[in-house]
Amino acid sequence: MSEDCLFCKIVAGEIPSEAVYQDEHVYAFRDINPVAPSHVLVVPRRHIAALDEIQDGDEDLLGRLLVASKKVAEQENLSNGYRVLTNTGPDSGQVVFHLHFHVIGGRKLGAMA
Ligand code: AMP
Ligand code: ZN
Repeated sequence: MSEDCLFCKIVAGEIPSEAVYQDEHVYAFRDINPVAPSHVLVVPRRHIAALDEIQDGDEDLLGRLLVASKKVAEQENLSNGYRVLTNTGPDSGQVVFHLHFHVIGGRKLGAMA
């Protein structure tokens, strides 16, 4: 756990969240400011700041995050489609520096960027 990391505190239960999916390595919860009817954040329990901090050996965890994202989409009944994205660094608009995949759906989504 990284001190002063919002999502580490959410994973630890120190800050409340609405869990959508969880397992040994992954925690998923509703975004507090959803941009679509369904907007869930999928995060590793272990602190990793962003995709650019990923190292050799993290392949299994990255796969788990994507498999969990797919499970979230199924649970949320996003059978008509959804988007999975991760922001990395200032130009992307990343504001929370704990790796997270946004799973967004429930309406027709606009163009990227
Ligand atoms: P990003 O810009 O990719 O770093 O996205 C961070 C996301 O975290 C935003 O969509 C915020 O709405 C969301 N967020 C911030 N604080 C909380 C919180 N306490 N619980 C749930 N989502 C949050
Ligand atoms: Zn963290």
